Amino acid sequence: AISLRGLEKRFGSLAAVDDVSIDIESGEFLALLGPSGSGKSTILMSLAGFERPTKGQILIDGVDCTPLPPHKRNIGMVFQHYTLFPHLSVVENVAFPLKMRKVAKSERIRRAEAALKTVRLEGYGQRAPKQLSGGQQQRVALARAIVYNPRVLLMDEPLSALDKNLREEMQLEIKRLHSELGITVVFVTHDQGEALTMADRVAILKEGRLQQISPARELYERPANLFAASFIGEMN
Ligand code: ATP
Ligand code: MG
Repeated sequence: AISLRGLEKRFGSLAAVDDVSIDIESGEFLALLGPSGSGKSTILMSLAGFERPTKGQILIDGVDCTPLPPHKRNIGMVFQHYTLFPHLSVVENVAFPLKMRKVAKSERIRRAEAALKTVRLEGYGQRAPKQLSGGQQQRVALARAIVYNPRVLLMDEPLSALDKNLREEMQLEIKRLHSELGITVVFVTHDQGEALTMADRVAILKEGRLQQISPARELYERPANLFAASFIGEMN
């Protein structure tokens, strides 16, 4: 389980994240939803350890991770834009986190190939990233994020660069992975429909503050305030 306790991240006078407390159950699929600038990425970057909160704590399975660097958190992360290394092959990209963790080469390749199989890219290992489509590249990023069996997978708008068909296909793929791996997922999106169809619960943010956190249905039936109501109502 993950516990955010009074999380705050200031950039100068701006509170990008302002006193956010969220408890996420193990195996849960949580969506962080909110308009541009509402603090979604900053929360994710804090969870991953790339940003240091100015106040508050992050507990993972009861352990205070707030001071730990990213590679000591056992968290996988997929960013919004493809962040594959262009000069490495697909399989080398996927194996990279294992290299960082000093896993032996033959074991790295074996596990990277298993991860590629999980995202249905068996046989693509020797290609260069640029020889893949956008959706396939995003799958490689996903394979790289799960290759060391993290307990938590963080995704920052992983599908927003994809066209509608590919996006729907990848939504299913991510849901399949979530149930197959039994992993905790925190998924950032500014797409209301995507949040509501994919997540067990949705957390709505506005200007760094948590407005509401509830199961998708409840957001419709009992929006906590006018902002939540109109934000969900904007969905088309
Ligand atoms: P988007 O949907 O556009 O990705 P977001 O909800 O992810 O938005 P954040 O990236 O978390 O928003 O940014 C929250 C606020 O913090 C914004 O006002 C942003 O300008 C500010 N911010 C983020 N990173 C920095 C930084 N490194 N330095 C200064 N301000 C920052
Ligand atoms: Mg963002």
